[in-house]
Amino acid sequence: MKIAVIGGGAAGLTAAGSAKGAAVTVFDHMEKVGKKIYITGKGRCNFTNVCDNQTFLQNVVTNSPFLRSAISKFTPYDAIDLLENNGCKTKVERGRRAFPQSDKASDVIKALSRYAESNGAVIKLNSKVIDIARTDNGYAVCCSDGEEHFDRVIMCTGGMSYPQTGSDGNAYAVIMRLGHTVITPQPSLVALVTQEDLSAAEGLTLKNVSLRTDKVKPIFGDLMITADGISGPIALTLSAYTARDRFPYKAYIDFKPAMSRDELDARLLRDFGAQLNKQFKNALDLLLPKSVIPFIIERSGVDGALPVNSVTKKQRARIVELVKAFELNVTGNEGFNRAVVTCGGVDVKEINPKTMESRISRGLYFGGETLDVDALTGGYNFHIALATGYVAGSSAAVEQDE
Ligand SMILES: Cc1cc2nc3c(=O)[nH]c(=O)nc-3n(C[C@H](O)[C@H](O)[C@H](O)COP(=O)(O)OP(=O)(O)OC[C@H]3O[C@@H](n4cnc5c(N)ncnc54)[C@H](O)[C@@H]3O)c2cc1C
Repeated sequence: MKIAVIGGGAAGLTAAGSAKGAAVTVFDHMEKVGKKIYITGKGRCNFTNVCDNQTFLQNVVTNSPFLRSAISKFTPYDAIDLLENNGCKTKVERGRRAFPQSDKASDVIKALSRYAESNGAVIKLNSKVIDIARTDNGYAVCCSDGEEHFDRVIMCTGGMSYPQTGSDGNAYAVIMRLGHTVITPQPSLVALVTQEDLSAAEGLTLKNVSLRTDKVKPIFGDLMITADGISGPIALTLSAYTARDRFPYKAYIDFKPAMSRDELDARLLRDFGAQLNKQFKNALDLLLPKSVIPFIIERSGVDGALPVNSVTKKQRARIVELVKAFELNVTGNEGFNRAVVTCGGVDVKEINPKTMESRISRGLYFGGETLDVDALTGGYNFHIALATGYVAGSSAAVEQDE
């Protein structure tokens, strides 16, 4: 059985290794495999999250049910075993995030390459697949340096994020010519751009705040203010839940999620009472980070020079509202160049979740980010690439009755 794996990222290398007994060729148009892996997890590669299947699927944002079978066939423990068995020692950190013990993503690349090569896979670099045509008994893979026939093809060409790593979306056209639907790709896990200029507080990290929209429930954690909007863990999470929404939309920061509005009002009264001679603009220091205060004062309409004991109940209510629901107009995001993952891709309705085989074209398989699946940060996306690649490779290598 001859199998072509298109794309030498996490999914493709795993598919190549798991297609046991087949003659596998991996095509990648870059000069080396796994270019995206180098930059994952800030160069440390958070390759999985050691949690149970249910928790895992709760962290999948798009098409979680589709992944149920793949995640149970290839668990986070299988990911650890795969790397350990191929020379990469691993460790688990806070939040059940697994990394190579060396903190070097390159060790993950070496282990996945070794896994592929241990199955005899041939890796062809600088080989761009420009078309794939169905033949009577398989597929003609047309690549920059010629055409070759294969019995089966596994598409692991990734999404569109960080296109300089090789996953630039060029292969969607090939996939569509094979009869598949590609759900419009959108950047996900990406910083958000706001209409409001928050740059005076650029670099500020707000700890233990929450962020919501009219549709998305509050997300708790840390938020960063950037030159043109918001970033940090909860902004990235929000970007995933809103990846298919239209811009602009409203988002609301709750600077004090642990307090109710009444508790916050009581707290303001207490703080103001303890600082009677201060001006209003100097009386919020105990409550909020310094660089946030000017935004609250400006929006409150209360004169910052007003003695704090003159702030009325109505004005206090306005301040409470601003602290609990600081409105932002999200007008965009930082795009594919800065997005961790792609939301969108091959419509999973057209794929058998047990084998990753196309329901449209027999002998054609898919793995990794090229599928319309995406998850939150924490090692889930990389694991999805490993698991779907594994299932695609092991299924494709099995002879089927016609
Ligand atoms: C900055 C950053 C940090 C990240 N950190 C983490 C993390 O810590 N944990 C986590 O879980 N996830 C992380 N991710 C996401 C994760 O890395 C990806 O979801 C995962 O690596 C996708 O693997 P893949 O094999 O599906 O696709 P890719 O790694 O994108 O591989 C696709 C391959 O296909 C090749 N290719 C494309 N078109 C063609 C063609 N026509 N012919 C031949 N070859 C082609 C490309 O060159 C590429 O090598 C991060 C992503 C980014 C961008």
